[in-house]
Amino acid sequence: MKVIFFGPPGSGKGTQANLLVSSLNIPHLSTGDILRSKLQDNDILSDKLKDILSSGNLVSDEVLNKIISEKLISPDCKAGFILDGYPRTLTQSNFFISFIEKNNIALELIVYFKLDNQNIENRIMHRSIIEKRSDDKKDVITTRIKKYNQETEPLVDIYRRKFPKIFHEINAAQDISKIQDEIKKMLKNGKF
Ligand code: AMP
Repeated sequence: MKVIFFGPPGSGKGTQANLLVSSLNIPHLSTGDILRSKLQDNDILSDKLKDILSSGNLVSDEVLNKIISEKLISPDCKAGFILDGYPRTLTQSNFFISFIEKNNIALELIVYFKLDNQNIENRIMHRSIIEKRSDDKKDVITTRIKKYNQETEPLVDIYRRKFPKIFHEINAAQDISKIQDEIKKMLKNGKF
């Protein structure tokens, strides 16, 4: 099952992906998690990443395209994957679409987690208390929301139009269990 989760920071994509992968046995490719794990490396790249992540800005398209393309053709992803946090810019999206076409990777489900700005802010502030993420501070949150609205939100319509049969919008303000049920229903209807 090849799935993409789109949506703003704090919309619950990661939570839902974690719940799903436990029953589906496919990897959860969260670019945020992958980048955060690289921070432990203590090399030049990790120093650069630290600065970018803690400012709320986006890491370069080149770095992300390389990370994801290597993952997608690895044996781990043969049976499927849940992509969470990528593509995030038009450049990444153009690269990704041509990459999956070239490699015959057929997407089966795209879920767009829709959430308004006030809810996004509240959710991330709440998470900052629980997880103590360095990018969950007020000014950084503002940058992340701005980046999302400028760079990522415009991609949603591209995917809605390009993949109308597998594109689903979900109200991300609902309870975790309600959203998980809705996604499972989408998967059942898609007969995975
Ligand atoms: P996330 O956990 O998805 O909110 O990602 C945390 C941070 O990682 C973001 O604020 C960006 O700095 C970086 N990041 C994650 N995914 C991407 C991406 N696809 N392109 C650029 N930067 C990314």
